[in-house]
Amino acid sequence: MTGEFTRIFNKLGELTTFASFRPGSEILRTIRLTGRDETAYGGSVPSPIGHLLGGAIVGYAIAPSAVLLCAVAGAAPDVDFLWGRHNQETHSIAAAIAAGLVVLAWKRDARLAAAVTIAWLSHVLFDWLGSDTTPPLGVKALWPLSSEYYFSNAFFFEAISRRYWLDNFISHNLWAVAREILILGPPLAIVMSIRLRARRRSHRPDTA
Ligand SMILES: [Zn+2]
Repeated sequence: MTGEFTRIFNKLGELTTFASFRPGSEILRTIRLTGRDETAYGGSVPSPIGHLLGGAIVGYAIAPSAVLLCAVAGAAPDVDFLWGRHNQETHSIAAAIAAGLVVLAWKRDARLAAAVTIAWLSHVLFDWLGSDTTPPLGVKALWPLSSEYYFSNAFFFEAISRRYWLDNFISHNLWAVAREILILGPPLAIVMSIRLRARRRSHRPDTA
């Protein structure tokens, strides 16, 4: 068993930089990785729903006229699944800035560009906070300055399983999405209600 632990930690050491470490979580990670290779969840954390919600929160807070665009920017980094380089270049601060610059050139709106950059960054942040269990763990947040992967070890969001052959595939994923909604729903509701109230106030005739 010890040999197996050593093998896994050596592998993790090669592949991942732990930006922060919480006591006890090494054991948690080891348990998740050893003897459970079959049941370990895939590297997509959180689901597109969580990322869309994250982007929408940024949209309501910064660019309420373009919430949909911000929501899409929140989910967009996972497009890298298409070319098989998941959690790499698109999951970086540089990619977030590039997305903002594209929007700036397109819309000539600095506020919107900033919102898109921050929405994109929310994706990097959420994945960093997630439950990646497929090495290399984490995201290449500082690419192209560094090719290291960063992972918080916080397991804040559940990983979405792509192992459809397992019995708990549906129940686990339903729980993972429910957890995202429970975490991100309240802040979304708060920014939405603030926006709605502000809009109502601006439409009210001035009676003073
Ligand atoms: Zn991602």
